[in-house]
Amino acid sequence: MAEVVDLGILGNPPVLSGYLVRSGGSAAIVDAGSASVADEYVSRARGILGGARLEYVLITHVHLDHAGGTARVLELEPGARAAVYSRGARHLVDPSRLLEVSRGSLGPLLDAWGGIRPVDPGRLVVLEDGDELRIGDSRMRLIATPGHASHSSAWYLVDEGVLFTGDSAGMLIVGEGGFAWPAAPPSFRMDQFLESLSRLESLNPRMVCISHYGCTRRAREYFEGTRRIHLEVDRALGEVCGSGAREDGEVLEALLEALGMDDIPRDHYLDMELVVSVKGLPGYARCSRNRAPRTDDPLVPGCSFLAPRDLHLAHSSRAIGVGPWAAVGPIAA
Ligand SMILES: [Zn+2]
Repeated sequence: MAEVVDLGILGNPPVLSGYLVRSGGSAAIVDAGSASVADEYVSRARGILGGARLEYVLITHVHLDHAGGTARVLELEPGARAAVYSRGARHLVDPSRLLEVSRGSLGPLLDAWGGIRPVDPGRLVVLEDGDELRIGDSRMRLIATPGHASHSSAWYLVDEGVLFTGDSAGMLIVGEGGFAWPAAPPSFRMDQFLESLSRLESLNPRMVCISHYGCTRRAREYFEGTRRIHLEVDRALGEVCGSGAREDGEVLEALLEALGMDDIPRDHYLDMELVVSVKGLPGYARCSRNRAPRTDDPLVPGCSFLAPRDLHLAHSSRAIGVGPWAAVGPIAA
């Protein structure tokens, strides 16, 4: 039986939650994080590895907040390999286009995250939908989850029923008054997202761990909640855009008001991210008229949150109503 450890939120401002899976002397971490948090991630993982060997870095998708640190993690852990869905693999080996697209859309965030370096193809394990790896005595299955991006996947610890969703099942911004929010950057596809979400839901997992941020045992409520949030934000966005809002700031204010969320903690970065993370919703189409259109380029990022620095990490979510979230420490799976 595996043990799952929530390593807590990496980076300040936060980049993503780190997770360690340990079973029968072997271990894996979920995603590598951005290059800027890779060292912190490995050091936290080492702190609780015990005698276990870190064998895998399980990449959920190749956006820079999840995979930018892959080369660095593999450098620090010479015995480890990165496991990745085939659709993202080539971008890890040759990240030039990924970097170029990210530079265009992330701007200063790219420097904060530290970019991405090529990964030696010999250190990659390339998987297809449904393929499994062994971590000690446990089976870890890759599940293709197009929607957030075409290269999105989730990892499922089969016998323990723990699902690591990456960005394929939305986000929860933690802290006092935490809230759920879509993970729908410009390359998002709503039809595929809903299909992937239903597929994940049908696994009936005992626990769901999302990249932004935290784990919950109330999987059914989480799935229902995140589906509802995507649909509600989409509908509200359509109304806001239909009534003439165009500029990002204006769209965000009207959207939060329409959703009854105008009292959430805010800062400049969070505002930027809130807008970027809904630009792939169909409802944004009317806002984007006369502006840069949505894109089908799967490499366009825009999912990760720079939540306000002063948010207390008392995991909660009023929007979905699940929690309390797992605190840092072992979770018996
Ligand atoms: Zn992300």
